[in-house]
Amino acid sequence: MSAAAATHRLFRMDEMETLRRDRRLDPQLIRQLRNGLLKKFEPDDVVRERFPASDAVQLHALKLFQRMDSEIDGATKLLFETDSGLLIESVILRIASGRTTLCVSSQIGCAAACDFCATGKMGIAKNLATEEILDQVVQAGQILRAENRRLSNIVFMGMGEPLHNEANVTEAIQLLTAPDHFARSPSTVLVSTVGVPAAMLRLANAFPRLNLALSLHSADQATRETIIPLGKKASLTQLHDTIQEIQTIQDREFMIEYLMLRGVNDSAEDAKRLIDWIGDLRVHVNLIPYNTIEASPHLQASPRPTIESFADLLKASGLKTTVRYSLGHDIEAACGQLIRQENRQRAMQARRAAAEGDSHVGFLDVRQVIDGLES
Ligand code: SF4
Repeated sequence: MSAAAATHRLFRMDEMETLRRDRRLDPQLIRQLRNGLLKKFEPDDVVRERFPASDAVQLHALKLFQRMDSEIDGATKLLFETDSGLLIESVILRIASGRTTLCVSSQIGCAAACDFCATGKMGIAKNLATEEILDQVVQAGQILRAENRRLSNIVFMGMGEPLHNEANVTEAIQLLTAPDHFARSPSTVLVSTVGVPAAMLRLANAFPRLNLALSLHSADQATRETIIPLGKKASLTQLHDTIQEIQTIQDREFMIEYLMLRGVNDSAEDAKRLIDWIGDLRVHVNLIPYNTIEASPHLQASPRPTIESFADLLKASGLKTTVRYSLGHDIEAACGQLIRQENRQRAMQARRAAAEGDSHVGFLDVRQVIDGLES
């Protein structure tokens, strides 16, 4: 198959319809192709063999660049190369209970610029296309199928702020839940945001059974803005009101993510502030132990006893609270570092190419875009 001939993208209804007409294909064959790849995650050669015009279909939008398997738990990082030449990551989490969760990226880099996050330090913010988001699911699904495992949940917690790429993320969720595409239940999908109120409401309205999470990390406005620069775009009061409104649309628990940072947000006073801020919202609080990153040596993880005492305070006030120990510690640093270096190099090459009038990679500096973002 020549790459140039494979011009019809599987996720583009219009392109697949053109192919069907041009090659006079039975619509059933396209349905079969989608079912095989998107619902059953069958291998490429199997679905291609059954499809008479397989030379003209592009099954994947991403190229697998590297796979890293954790040696201590069931995590696998998949590094993908996008069309723009930059790298993104997805993480497969094989949880002891037998469930398997896939964490997907929605952007390359991120304009939220969180101080504790390697992606936020990348200095690049570029939206992934819908097919680039969905192909992470397809390729991870194929890996899991080969292991006789089923993909249970999909979480938008990888690189990027999903609601800064709202149109493509919304379209991706539409296709993930569409009966003629992935046919997954919206309740198996979770979108995590640092807080873009209007977009959160639109998403809740569009998908009342979708799970939503807010990366809060502090219930003190000034502290929050220091660790999440984008936090100044929406006040804590505004975020509280937004969740309250979402709970009138969605009959489900809202997830609050809280990263435990030593001396920043982990005192008993911080816990009290968090309890007060939550008030009567129906939430589940996830306390997340921090993994240090090279670019932020001033941030340290809270010691385990501190996390436990913090959790006890929340629980004593009646809040559903869990401590989420993340998987894949051994591959985390290696992977973040590799992506950062590779993307920096590639972005620099692109900058040079742009200066010479050959702009292939469109990228933006996060500082330039942060002020233009919708709150
Ligand atoms: S929003 Fe998420 S990906 Fe973006 S900088 Fe913050 S933690 Fe990193």
